[in-house]
Amino acid sequence: AKVEGKNRYKFYDQSINDEMVKKIKLRNEIRQGIINKEFVVYYQPQVNIVSGKISGVEALVRWRHPIRGLVMPGDFIDLAEETGLIIPLGEYVLRTACRQSMEWERAGLTGIMMSVNISVKQINSLNIVQDILDIIDETHMIPEHLILEITESVAMENISKTIDIMNQLREKGITFSLDDFGTGYSSLNYLKNIPINHLKIDKQFVQNLQRQTFEEVVVRSIIEIAHRMELTVVAEGIETLEQKEALTSYNCDIAQGYYYSKPIPHQEVESFIKGI
Ligand code: C2E
Ligand code: CA
Ligand code: CA
Ligand code: CA
Repeated sequence: AKVEGKNRYKFYDQSINDEMVKKIKLRNEIRQGIINKEFVVYYQPQVNIVSGKISGVEALVRWRHPIRGLVMPGDFIDLAEETGLIIPLGEYVLRTACRQSMEWERAGLTGIMMSVNISVKQINSLNIVQDILDIIDETHMIPEHLILEITESVAMENISKTIDIMNQLREKGITFSLDDFGTGYSSLNYLKNIPINHLKIDKQFVQNLQRQTFEEVVVRSIIEIAHRMELTVVAEGIETLEQKEALTSYNCDIAQGYYYSKPIPHQEVESFIKGI
C-alpha cells in the first residue's frame, strides 16, 4: 500500500501494482521455503558421448512447494537473483550437491563429476571464495570433482575480479565451465582470458542443429576452437538420436539431455548408473 501511495500522483497502473505484490509475496515465500527446506536438488546425468557412460551430473534446483507442487527454476531463479536470496539458496544447492557427491563416492559410485550453477550475485558476494572452500571442507567434497558453471554474463560483469576468484578456486582443484555458450555476447577473444576447462553449448544451438545450417557451422567451429584451447565440450539439450549423432561426428565430448535422462532425484541417478 505504501508503494501505491507513493506513485499515485504520477499514474496509477493496477497491473504494475499487482505485479509488485506478486513479487513481494513470492520473495517472502522463497525466503520461508529456504528455512523450511522446501528446495530440493535434482541431478541430470552427463555422459561420454562415445561410450555412453556417465561422466557426471548437473545439479538443478527444484522447489517442492507445499501448495503448488514441484516448481521449476524458471519460475523463481530470476527473483531469487534480484532479491539476493540466490546467495543462501545457491549455498544450499552447493552444499547438498557436495554431500551427494561424497555419498556416491562412499557407496562406490566413484569419479562422478558434479556441476553446480553459480550466479552473478554469488560471484559478487563478499566471501565467495571462503564460502565455497568452507562447504568443500565441511562436506569432504573432492575439489577435483567439482565444476562450477558460470554464464558469460556472470563472467563479463567484472572480468578481472571474476578471473581472480576463479583462479583462487582453481588453485584448490575446482574447475569452471562456461554455461549457455553462444547465447550471450561471447567474443572469442574473451574465451582466451577466462580460466575455464569446460564449455557448454546451449540447448538452443543443439536443438536447431540440422545439416548445412548456420547452427551446424557455429557448433562445429565452437567445438574445434574449444578443443584447440584444450577445453572439454558439453552439449546440453540433446533430445534425439540425430542430435546425438551429429554432435558425435563433430567430436563433442560430453552429452546431456532428455535423450539420456531428465534431471532426476539422486536415487534415480543411482539406478541410471547401475543401468536399471
Ligand atoms: P541451465 O543451467 O542452462 O540448465 C539446463 C536446463 O536445460 C535445465 O532446466 C534442464 O532441465 C534443461 N534441459 C536439459 N536437457 C534438456 C533437453 O533435452 N530438453 C529441454 N527442453 N531442456 C533440457 P531447469 O532445471 O529448468 O533449469 C533452468 C535454469 O535455471 C538453468 O539453466 C539455470 O540457469 C537455472 N538454475 C537451475 N538450478 C540452479 C541453481 O542451483 N543455481 C542457479 N544459480 N541457477 C540454477
Ligand atoms: Ca547450467
Ligand atoms: Ca542453458
Ligand atoms: Ca543458464
